[in-house]
Amino acid sequence: MKDKEGRDTLPFITKIEELKKRLTLSKKKVKEIEETARVYPFRIPEFYFNLIEKDNPYCPIKKQCIPDIKELSSHGEVDPLIEEKYSITPSFIKKYSGRGVFLTGTQCAMYCRFCNRKRLIGKNHNIRASFEETFDYLKRDITIKEVIVSGGDPLMLPPEEFEFILRKFAKIDHIKIIRISSRMPVVYPEGIKQKHIKSIKNLSPIWFIVHINHPKEITEEFSKTVRNLKNAGCIILSHTVLLRGVNDCPYILRELFERLVLLGIKPYYLFQVDEVKGVSHFKVRLRKGIEIMKILRQETSGIAMPTYVIDITGAAGKIPVDYKFIKNRSGSKLFIEDLNGNIGHYRDDGKKSSCIKCSICYKK
Ligand code: SF4
Repeated sequence: MKDKEGRDTLPFITKIEELKKRLTLSKKKVKEIEETARVYPFRIPEFYFNLIEKDNPYCPIKKQCIPDIKELSSHGEVDPLIEEKYSITPSFIKKYSGRGVFLTGTQCAMYCRFCNRKRLIGKNHNIRASFEETFDYLKRDITIKEVIVSGGDPLMLPPEEFEFILRKFAKIDHIKIIRISSRMPVVYPEGIKQKHIKSIKNLSPIWFIVHINHPKEITEEFSKTVRNLKNAGCIILSHTVLLRGVNDCPYILRELFERLVLLGIKPYYLFQVDEVKGVSHFKVRLRKGIEIMKILRQETSGIAMPTYVIDITGAAGKIPVDYKFIKNRSGSKLFIEDLNGNIGHYRDDGKKSSCIKCSICYKK
């Protein structure tokens, strides 16, 4: 069986009948899943589904992939990050100077229940129709140095199309950095073909951001894919969404981040859940997130620490919201808390900095 893009559909679970056969679901739950999936469809790769602990009601894998009636809550906004407003074309969002996000499509291997692009993912938007318009724009906008290739998942593209897009960017002189953002190594590693890896290798170094949320997602297959990507010359970073009932515990996150470091992956961002409609049940209180970061700082190495950020509604930016260790100031004396809660001090009496007219700021 093939889908519209000629891809095998067999490795994915998309029908409620299949879930009924494979999970113990009450009639009420089945009805709720049906109702939710009418608004937000589901797709779960066989590989990821097999990580579910079927008898565990708290299973973090289940929570990330099985529709929940709470998604139909009216809390939140459809596009709180105002991506539509910052869209130059349907396939290119430019929110920050010097870089932008290229949307490769609306298909992901899995439709994560907490996705911040719930308005797009799994829906029929023909983003591809605007690719040429985006390439033309990118050629003209010489301020763009970095393109973040996202989606939908870029690795869901057939290898030839993936290669075509990467080559387009590589041919634009002012684009110096290509960043690929993907959840495929975690949820559907077998979907990453040798040809995808070859395309990446041809253009390396490429920055690869893997989206991973729980230590249970670190499988042998994930580790193997990471090795392949590293052998292809990728620099790999991770991002994690802080999810209530999934990973909102310092010890779960410590295990995740430390194991990623052992695989040579630098934990990059820990995201507070965005104010997206349909995901508010995953929100963790900010106070809890900050407490988690404080414990992590005590308990693990600096290289295993991501930056905890909020993408704020109505404005642009991933704003760091880490624990504030500076507690007080008296004149030039700062009072700073150490990792054990003791207050030490630092005299903040450096002389005022001034411009030395080196000209780096206005040189191209
Ligand atoms: S892989 Fe990313 S873009 Fe796709 S559904 Fe999951 S969170 Fe959303």
